[in-house]
Amino acid sequence: MKTTTRWRPDTCGCTIDQTWDDGTLVASTMVIACAAHFGVTNAPACVLEENQHKNRSLNALEDAGIIVQAWRIEGAERKLTVEVSVEQAAPAAAILASTGVHARVIGKPMGG
Ligand SMILES: [Zn+2]
Repeated sequence: MKTTTRWRPDTCGCTIDQTWDDGTLVASTMVIACAAHFGVTNAPACVLEENQHKNRSLNALEDAGIIVQAWRIEGAERKLTVEVSVEQAAPAAAILASTGVHARVIGKPMGG
């Protein structure tokens, strides 16, 4: 049976209607395109990939005991930036590099 769910990713301002057939995503339709994805070819897939990339990155860090204080995606490249403590910056960068994630790590002084 086909069902449609409305998805608003936490990585940008897009709104996408996703049509599912027995748990398989069969169609995605842009309802609202944010500034970053307006006019982008295959925008729903780009938004999904961007969101999954963020999830994979944060999950990999969490699994390693890294505390992510903040994250954002910015710039024309839509690059992920994660903020961690100064002490965890190097291990966090190593973990992301080893998982093939394109992300920038910023170490923030505690209490700063
Ligand atoms: Zn978007």
